[in-house]
Formats: sequence, structure tokens, C-alpha cells
Amino acid sequence: MATDIQVKIRRVIARNPATGETLREFECASAAEVTAAVERARAAQPAWAELGVWARVDILRRFQRLLHQNKDEVACIITRENGKPQVEALLTEVLVVLDAARFLIENAHAILKPEPVPHGNLVMKTKSARLLREPYGVIGIISPWNYPFSTPATEGLAALVAGNAVVMKPSEFTPLAALEVGRLLHEAGVPHDIFQVVVGDGLTGAALTEASIDKIVFTGSVRTGKRVAETAATKLLPVLLELGGKDPMLVLDDVELEAVTSAALWGAFMNAGQTCLSVERCYVHRSLYEKFLAAVVEKTGKLRLGNGMDPETDVGPMIHEQQLRVVEAQVADAIARGARLLYGGRRLPELGPTFYAPTVLADVTHGMLIMREETFGPVLPVMPFATDDEALRLANDSEFGLAASVWTSHRRRGEALARRIQAGTVMVNDVISCYGISEAPHGGVKLSGLGRAHGRLGLEEMVRVKYVDSDLLPRIRKVWWYGYGEKFARQMDGFLDLLFSRNWTRRISGGLRSLRAYFRSGRL
Ligand code: NDP
Repeated sequence: MATDIQVKIRRVIARNPATGETLREFECASAAEVTAAVERARAAQPAWAELGVWARVDILRRFQRLLHQNKDEVACIITRENGKPQVEALLTEVLVVLDAARFLIENAHAILKPEPVPHGNLVMKTKSARLLREPYGVIGIISPWNYPFSTPATEGLAALVAGNAVVMKPSEFTPLAALEVGRLLHEAGVPHDIFQVVVGDGLTGAALTEASIDKIVFTGSVRTGKRVAETAATKLLPVLLELGGKDPMLVLDDVELEAVTSAALWGAFMNAGQTCLSVERCYVHRSLYEKFLAAVVEKTGKLRLGNGMDPETDVGPMIHEQQLRVVEAQVADAIARGARLLYGGRRLPELGPTFYAPTVLADVTHGMLIMREETFGPVLPVMPFATDDEALRLANDSEFGLAASVWTSHRRRGEALARRIQAGTVMVNDVISCYGISEAPHGGVKLSGLGRAHGRLGLEEMVRVKYVDSDLLPRIRKVWWYGYGEKFARQMDGFLDLLFSRNWTRRISGGLRSLRAYFRSGRL
């Protein structure tokens, strides 16, 4: 009997958040299409691994050249789809990827080549050992909309140069930037089955985590990250999780306010505050508090809001209505609980559907949502403190631990505090810039995630480590093989003295006893 099965087609629409204009509409990749993509990737991956690191580095070099040649077009795609000013797209996306490629071109071979493992144990000195770094196979990458080009590209480049195939699922709000990563990689020489983009919604992402991949690299919210981790746990699938942040900025009493207030502004409002590393909580020493607030408010008033395609724009729109409502609710909660609204705090419908004024809040407390939950919008909440210890306690009073910054005229004082802050990264006298340093590992502690992207540690995330050793004396029986009994016990006793006695005479006599017992033992 024939059954009528209706398969509902889901769609995602890439829109320009500055205008609401539809850029392109896609059918979501179904679970079967995701599975097929993973199967194609698996079939193609051995040949890609076989190519060797140098050949893959050459392809990366071509990718880097192509990206540089196409930088303005790429920035334009990012701005139209995500809303950030074009110069920010160049700075925080294109430049970051060009430099990540530079890092891998210069370092991938040295990091991935077999590493000798010297043995400290005397009796193991007859073995020559190596650590081999081998690709996982197929890596699934799921990425968010706020850095729609640099997140999938930096993670993708590391996975590819290590010899993996990649199936990546971009956010439904920004598929075009991810498709551009794919276009440039393919043009540079990466086979189509080795880097595939599956466009879709959350269900497409879930299908990728359930498919037969070898590792999942997820960047996004804590809520979705936990779901991904749950699915991965049932398969013992390795995961890299780059999740949210609530990054504190600590302004100590010895700073020069001009630079610090500009940093706070950029750290809080860049990309309309939709940055995992953005300044989300600002703590200022009480002696500078009012002056700091006055300077910040004055500078915020000078920011130019508008369409990111206009080179004069400083702050663009937020990505979508839902995100805007989260920010509105947090600001309303803060004001209801006694925060002072010094600037902004409202929508700007005259500019477009999802513009929100950069907002400065003073006298916030940890009883307010704005200081506890990730905000992901252009809001700078400021709170005073009296001592370094109090600032530290406030900074660490969070479920998140992505990054933090300490501002001081005394580097040692800043570095001493940095060591006590619970975060994956602490910058002394800068904000966010660690994301653009390709050598710096990027990742968090607590709810901010597991593992690291970028740099040596990021590349190490893309490989399995295999230890191989070869015995150089294959004809000699080993002392620890069968032949147990009284003599063996004596031999072991001497053996342990040889290895671990603190007395050199006992060591030598232990070695001799062990050898004697060995040769008399008639071992099997
Ligand atoms: P989400 O967690 O909503 O989405 C992230 C990705 O996961 C998207 O591609 C999304 O698809 C996909 N997804 C949704 N549901 C599932 C599911 N059940 N299984 C698998 N994948 C799924 O995050 P946002 O896109 O809103 O991004 C913002 C968040 O990302 C913030 O919390 C931010 O802090 C964090 N982030 C962290 C960074 C870091 O390095 N630590 C860097 C950048 C952002 P779809 O969009 O189609 O629903």
C-alpha cells in the first residue's frame, strides 16, 4: 500500500539587518543531505591526508592570496548580511583570517611533524618513540552569526591543514559569509568534498552533530552548546566548545582616563556589542568613577549609527528582533532595580528595524540580569569598586570565564591581578584584541566552553595524538616478562632500587642484583 509522506521543506533567509532586505533564500539541508555530505567527506579525506602538510600549506597560501585580492568584496558580503561596519568586517574578520592563514603557513609543519619522546626511565632507553599527530577524519563545524566569516574560516583552516575534511553548518542568519569561505577555499584548490557548507537552521545543526563525524567544533550560545555536548556524550564524540562570555573590564585607580574610556567604548559597542569577547561588565575604581562615566557618555554621544556600508558608520544594527528584545529586557530590569540610565536605552526605528542606541548604565549591581547574563548588544554597564580585591571578587563572580581586561599604569600590578582572574584570556591594557592574535589560544573556562581555538593549541585540537615506539633490541627478553617467582621478586626488588633509590650505592647494587637474577632466571 502506497503511503503519502509529506516532507516539510524548511527555509532560511539571509537578510540585511540594516534594511530588512532579503538577500537570498535557501532550503534547509535535510538530515539525509547532511549524512550524504559527511559520507562524501569521509570518502575524500584519506587522499587529502595523503597529500601531506606542505601540499596543504601551499593551498592555504593560495587561499590567503585570493582572500587578500577579494578583501573588499568579502567585507561587503559580511556587512550586508551581519550589519557590522565594513571597516570592522575588514579588521575583525578578513584580517583575522589572513593572519590565521599566515600562522598556519609558518607553523603547521613544525607543529604537526612527528615529535620525538625521550624516555627518562633507564630501562626504556632502548626504545625510540614518537608522537604522531593524525587527522580525526571528518570534523563538523557549527558557527554563529556574529563573526560569520572569521569563525568558520579560522577553525576550518586549522582542520584542513591538519588533513581533515570539514562539513560546516553556518548560522541561518549568515550563510552567505560561510559560503564565501567555501568558494575561496575551493578556488584555492581544496576539493569540494573536503570542505562542504550545509546551509540550514538549528535542526540542520543537530543533524550534523548526530551524523557520523569524528569531532564537533561548536561556537555559539551556552544553551545550544550544552545540547551539542549532550549528543556528543552519547557517542563519546570529542567536542570543542567556544561559548558565551560576560567579560569584565577592571579599571584600577592609576589609569589615564582618555585611553581607557575609548577602550571601554570600543569594547562594549564594536559589532553592536555582539561579540563574545566584548566588554560586558565594567568595574571602575571609585576615585575615577564619575569622571569615567562623564567621559564615556560624552564619547558615546559622538558615535555615528547607521548602515555599515557607509564608511562614516561606527555602530550598525543588531542582528535580529529576538536579540534586541533580550537586550531591552535586561536594560529594563537594570533600571527597575535602580541602575542609572546615562545614555541610550532605546530603539532607533528611524534608522532601521533592529537599531538600538549604544547604552551606558551606571550603579549596576550583581543582582541585575545585565551583570549576570550574556547581553550581546551595545550596552556598557558600569559599577564602582574600592579595592583591587573587591574588583577581583566581582570579576570572578560569574558563571562565565571567556576573557577579561585589567587597566593600570603598572604592568606588574595588572599581571598579578590577571593571574587571579578566572578566564581563558586576560588582557592588560587592551580589549578583544586577543582574537586577532593568531598565536593566542582562544577559549574559556566555566560555562564559556571547553578546549581552545587558534594558535598551536587550536591546531592541536584538530588532531588525534598517537604514540609509537620501536624497541631497538628486539632479540632481548624484557625483564618484566613472564618467569615470576622468588628470583623474579629479587630481580624486581633490585630493579626498583636501581630506578628509584636516592642512594647511589643502593642503585648500583640494585642494578647488579637485578641483572644477576635476570640471567639466572631462565625467563620465558
Ligand atoms: P546559537 O547557539 O543560537 O547558534 C550557534 C549555531 O548553532 C548556529 O549555527 C545555530 O543554527 C546552531 N544550532 C542551533 N540549534 C542547534 C542544535 N540543536 N544543534 C546544533 N546546532 C544548533 O548562537 P548564536 O548564533 O546566537 O551566536 C551567539 C552566541 O555565540 C553567543 O552566546 C556568543 O557568545 C557565542 N560566541 C562565542 C564565541 C567564542 O569564541 N567563545 C565567538 C562567537 C560567538 P541557527 O543559527 O541556524 O539556529
